[in-house]
Amino acid sequence: MNRKYRRTVIAGNWKMNQLNSGVKKYMEELKENLPAQKTCDIVLCTPAVMISTMVRAGKECKVAAGAQDVSKYEKGAYTGEVSAEMLADVGAKYCIVGHSERREYHQESDSLVNEKAKALIAKGIVPIICVGESLEQREKNLTMEYIAYQVKAALDGIDGTQVRHCVIAYEPIWAIGTGKTATADQAQEVCGEIRAVIRKMYGARSARAVSILYGGSMNAKNAAELLAMPDIDGGLIGGASLKPVDFATIVAATAQE
Ligand code: PEP
Repeated sequence: MNRKYRRTVIAGNWKMNQLNSGVKKYMEELKENLPAQKTCDIVLCTPAVMISTMVRAGKECKVAAGAQDVSKYEKGAYTGEVSAEMLADVGAKYCIVGHSERREYHQESDSLVNEKAKALIAKGIVPIICVGESLEQREKNLTMEYIAYQVKAALDGIDGTQVRHCVIAYEPIWAIGTGKTATADQAQEVCGEIRAVIRKMYGARSARAVSILYGGSMNAKNAAELLAMPDIDGGLIGGASLKPVDFATIVAATAQE
């Protein structure tokens, strides 16, 4: 983490879990376990139908509500879609785009991820742009090349001022939901490369302002070691964010210097 230049962000991704009726209890338990001092921005990305509940429930302990997906379209005849303006209207502050589950199960391309990120920026929502290599790509030594390609594609047409408000999440696909975490050195190596790519595209000032998160089986035990790395500015957390005590422990791990 480098608090001097950029925000530390701990974001939970609830995926298709939890219910509106369970949010209050979750937030009570979270509140009881969060550190008294605020050391990072805390975000919970819920299913779209729970965002309003999270906006209300999160006020007291300063937890921002986030979404997990957005339409690339502004409005119109797109049955089932939710626009960036609608997310902003209910109070979402962040939105995940390009998660590997959406890339895999919904065939989302790099250009679609880019369009979604731009739609969010236009409405003042911070996109959490996910990138990450498969196990096969890692084993073939293609990680850096692939990540650089994904970052450039996701940021295409986004200017130097806008990029400072974007968050990039490095999520190796082989580490998501598998219990196999990247080592702190592996995660740092790729997060450092992501910053180098942004530096080449936008210059040093923008590059040092962008928060880069690690995601992939981050949990209460391994968070502190990952967060101690200079280019890892937080975490995107799936499974462990469903347990308020574990999520609070990860938040507390950002208290280290
Ligand atoms: C995720 O889905 O973004 C994620 C990181 O999941 P998990 O923490 O469960 O690996």
